[in-house]
Amino acid sequence: MLAEGAAQLQAAGIETARLEARWLLAHMAGLQMSDLIMHGRDAVPTEDCKAFRAALARRVAHEPIQHILGTTEFYGLEFLCDARALIPRPDSECVVEEALRRIPADRPVQVADLGTGSGCLLAALLTNRPQAQGRGVEANLAAASLAQENLAKLGLSDRADIFEGSWANWQGWGEADLIISNPPYIASAEIDSLMPEVRAHDPMDALDGGPDGLVSYRQIIRLAAAHMKRGAWLVFEIGHDQREAVSTLLQEAGFAEIDSSKDLGGNDRAVWA
Ligand code: GLN
Repeated sequence: MLAEGAAQLQAAGIETARLEARWLLAHMAGLQMSDLIMHGRDAVPTEDCKAFRAALARRVAHEPIQHILGTTEFYGLEFLCDARALIPRPDSECVVEEALRRIPADRPVQVADLGTGSGCLLAALLTNRPQAQGRGVEANLAAASLAQENLAKLGLSDRADIFEGSWANWQGWGEADLIISNPPYIASAEIDSLMPEVRAHDPMDALDGGPDGLVSYRQIIRLAAAHMKRGAWLVFEIGHDQREAVSTLLQEAGFAEIDSSKDLGGNDRAVWA
């Protein structure tokens, strides 16, 4: 079963074919990866074969494996994952790290996540700061429902809620001690060149950052400059080539202590001020 699956995935141009075949078989048969080794010679029940073949067909068509499995791990937490919101990415973990450095552990601070999507940034912050309260802002109602489900699953619903609407209509700027955001930042003309897994399966409103990719940053920075409280932090995820542009926007808007850091792949990924 595994050899057949890996061959199909490889023929479809999927680089980690063997690993993904294992994940899919384990998941569909309700096994741990280690069970595949222990029981590697056992017959696979017909129902599980069918489920595995159906999952393979989805992956061969370049549906992201996270959507097929229905969950993904981010910052050590398990998130429900489907087409309602951007799939949490390991690159964003460094943005969480920088935000956590700026959230005191011993005070009941307020954090907000603009364009929360799956809720992964917000949930990672709240899990690691048990005294913090949070608010996710999400204009896409499907994404907002996924964020609610993830907050509930992680036991955070009593400390977090979701504002269903655009950040332009959100009134909470002045209460937040830290605002984090991973807004859409891909330039519209570059959307076509994204991997099919991203282009056809992540929601377009989580990716498309307008003509130069910076439209959301301009909106957020303008609103933040007008309404955030003094001394509060604004922490952004950025595209690998946007550090200078976003830093300049922050500087022009009067922000101080502007700095940045790279993700594990060595790309500029977080900017804060
Ligand atoms: N990092 C994502 C990607 O390249 C883009 C996410 C975003 O636009 N915020 O797939």
